[in-house]
Amino acid sequence: MQDNQNPFASAQAQLKEAAKHTDVPKWVVELLLGPERQIDFRFPFKRDGGDIHIVKGYRVQHNNWLGPYKGGLRFHPRVDIDEVKALAFWMTIKNAVVDVPFGGGKGGIEIDPKSLSEGELERMTRQFARELAPNIGPDLDVPAPDVNTNSQIMDWIVEEFTVYGSQFMEKYTKDQLRAVVTGKSVGKGGSKGRDEATGMGGFYVLEELVKKLGLKKPFDKAQGKPLTVAIQGFGNVGSHIAALLHDNGYKVIGLSDSKGGIIDKTGTGFNVKLVQACKLDKGLIDHCYCVGTVCDLSNNHHGNISNEELLEMPVDILIPAALEEVIHAKNASKIKAKIVFEMANGPTTAEADEILAKKGVLVVPDVLANAGGVTVSYFEWLQNMKDESWDLEKVRGKLKKKMVKAFEEVWKIHENKKIDLRTAAYVLALQRLAKKSSAV
Ligand code: NAD
Repeated sequence: MQDNQNPFASAQAQLKEAAKHTDVPKWVVELLLGPERQIDFRFPFKRDGGDIHIVKGYRVQHNNWLGPYKGGLRFHPRVDIDEVKALAFWMTIKNAVVDVPFGGGKGGIEIDPKSLSEGELERMTRQFARELAPNIGPDLDVPAPDVNTNSQIMDWIVEEFTVYGSQFMEKYTKDQLRAVVTGKSVGKGGSKGRDEATGMGGFYVLEELVKKLGLKKPFDKAQGKPLTVAIQGFGNVGSHIAALLHDNGYKVIGLSDSKGGIIDKTGTGFNVKLVQACKLDKGLIDHCYCVGTVCDLSNNHHGNISNEELLEMPVDILIPAALEEVIHAKNASKIKAKIVFEMANGPTTAEADEILAKKGVLVVPDVLANAGGVTVSYFEWLQNMKDESWDLEKVRGKLKKKMVKAFEEVWKIHENKKIDLRTAAYVLALQRLAKKSSAV
């Protein structure tokens, strides 16, 4: 297998591998190897100084057998069509794994949002929403936040869509139209618990895995050393799972963001909430190594670390929670973690997967580990469509049930078929997709 392949080639390799372990019709696999539809956008947008910038963007609608296309919108200078195709494909698989009635979609704009003023970001987002409007809808395609997008951006999209969607008022009430995107702010139709959902869903899966492997409970001092964790990416997903792990006795000893990372060499672990507050204040995580308990240490037991070094730290659990393809053929053999827990989408290339398997590293795949976000997105969509508002306890309870069930189902296939967890998750998804597949 070639490395340095694009993420979509990695995704296709994963699907072909899983197909060997199922008896789903060949044409189903063939169809899933590519998206049903892809839309390219190009539109002009005026910068604050009056210059015109031509923005490039994409929306890929991969498959809708299980329900409306569903998947995030990413704003990043590295966005390209192969990346968006891969991300849309992974959404199809993920939604099937966690058994929510959505298909797979994804979108992105090739831009660095940090280079925009607040006003520019709003104008660009609103224009993108107007371009996107004919292609999305509560029963057609439902975007959500992803890298560099958040509830504010979702709220702007809803406002623009509501203007466009007023022509559908016979079909939807105004409140139901808000189901066109998920991840909105709570006052504007968002669900309680959506912000934390991806991290929390991952946490539930990790706890089940820890039990399944018979690992010592991290919070039980009597049984031995707590489990150590390094996390790459400290945005929505990385910071929430970091805080949950910290609160539950795991020791988070490595953290990073796009500019660099921090390491706690004492093994006592960072106080994640203080690191969060520090990052909010200072903007960069590598200015935050001396917070909380580690500040009390007068010696040189903590410091800065590069993103590459963080991935190679000798921890029990490595959590990539930033971008795809960070574990590849060149560094996979240097990974020292026992478990790679994929909270980012597509962080491990197909070739790295093989190297990790040979080393005995257990990889928990993205399509299971990070499915909590889309699960609560489904709850948000349901609440909008039924005009309900669930409390946080209900959301968390339902999320936990879904994640634990999906984990158990994947684990069973992994054991029965003696295949890795990623292939097992794909087998589960393929079985569900094949049942709903249709050809004229
Ligand atoms: P985010 O924009 O909130 O955070 C991204 C983080 O990654 C930031 O801390 C950023 O500094 C860091 N980062 C960016 N480039 C990096 C690099 N080269 N090295 C190290 N760190 C880098 O995004 P997010 O929503 O937290 O998404 C993170 C990952 O999780 C993505 O792969 C996304 O597709 C996936 N994901 C997100 C959700 C969700 O609900 N937000 C759901 C499922 C999967």
